[in-house]
Amino acid sequence: MSSKAIRIHSYGGPEVMQWEGVPTPEPGPGEALVRHEAVGLNYIDVYFRTGLYKGPNLPATIGMEAAGAVVAVGEGVSSVKPGDRVAYATAPIGAYATERVISADRLVKLPDSIDFKTAAAMMLQGMTAQYLIRRTHRVQAGETIVIHAAAGGVGLIMSQWARHLGASVIGVVSNEAKAELARSHGATHVLIGHADLPAQVKRITGGAMVPVVYDSVGKDTFMASLDCLAPLGLMVSFGNASGPVPPVDIALLGAKGSLFLTRPSLASYTAKRADLEQSAKELFEVVQSGAVKIEVNQTFPLSQAADAHRALEGRKTTGSTVLLPRG
Ligand code: NDP
Repeated sequence: MSSKAIRIHSYGGPEVMQWEGVPTPEPGPGEALVRHEAVGLNYIDVYFRTGLYKGPNLPATIGMEAAGAVVAVGEGVSSVKPGDRVAYATAPIGAYATERVISADRLVKLPDSIDFKTAAAMMLQGMTAQYLIRRTHRVQAGETIVIHAAAGGVGLIMSQWARHLGASVIGVVSNEAKAELARSHGATHVLIGHADLPAQVKRITGGAMVPVVYDSVGKDTFMASLDCLAPLGLMVSFGNASGPVPPVDIALLGAKGSLFLTRPSLASYTAKRADLEQSAKELFEVVQSGAVKIEVNQTFPLSQAADAHRALEGRKTTGSTVLLPRG
């Protein structure tokens, strides 16, 4: 049996992604073969394509998230069986494919009410939102917090969830259409651009500043984000959409008010099976209750993943984007 996959033979622009025939893998001990119905597009896929993050050897298939049905399981697997509807958001890369083999203990069974497209749109971005606002900093009712790229995939989910927890969200976006979307998905205040960010946050908070900033933009916004924090505030630098943050002089954290700084990743927060299950459970709850709506605002055939990358890097997407293996 053969499958198809997007493979890269070198690092570079979207054009390095090629749609190729590959042998269908067989599940080994502890593994499951999953037939993908929908694949999630995430900014991390760009980092693996450009080589900012290095995967295993080339040629490689990028992608860390998909939803579909289990086709076969390897020796010793009892947690899932053929026919089960599942999803995952995990390393190693390899999701941009019609089928793939993956460790069975990384699979989460899907509730009937969550379709494959929604699942592929929400597992990685939604579990990221979960750990960021429930664990990295436990967002409290009454807090005002800053979320960058508030109309993006992670941003729209996190803003809705934070509002559901009773927080006020200051969302940062790049244009008026995104501002409107952020406002209708949980952001109480929306700022267009970050040029004047600390002054705007000072105005909105009456000088108090904020206990936490969630910054996924990286290089362009890191310093402005630090200046939005109240003393003892927490800077959560969790992405590099504008490029990696240069080395930081930790004395700055002292000078700006005994600040905390973390650079978290979903992989560490879901490494234990119990944490993965808890994260998925909380995500399913807020989606099923309607507190968080998953906005799949773009779909592309998986074979045209290059166009999806161009849109994502070009800041043309909002909410989540799904790649469809069968068109
Ligand atoms: P998004 O849908 O949020 O897309 C990225 C957004 O970043 C753009 O839409 C754009 O919004 C904003 N942006 C700001 N500057 C730039 C720039 N120079 N180039 C491109 N985009 C820019 O993507 P995701 O939801 O997939 O991911 C959001 C971020 O979260 C990424 O940085 C990703 O790496 C990170 N992430 C981190 C995880 C972790 O565990 N550490 C897990 C998941 C995601 P605008 O135009 O409004 O500025």
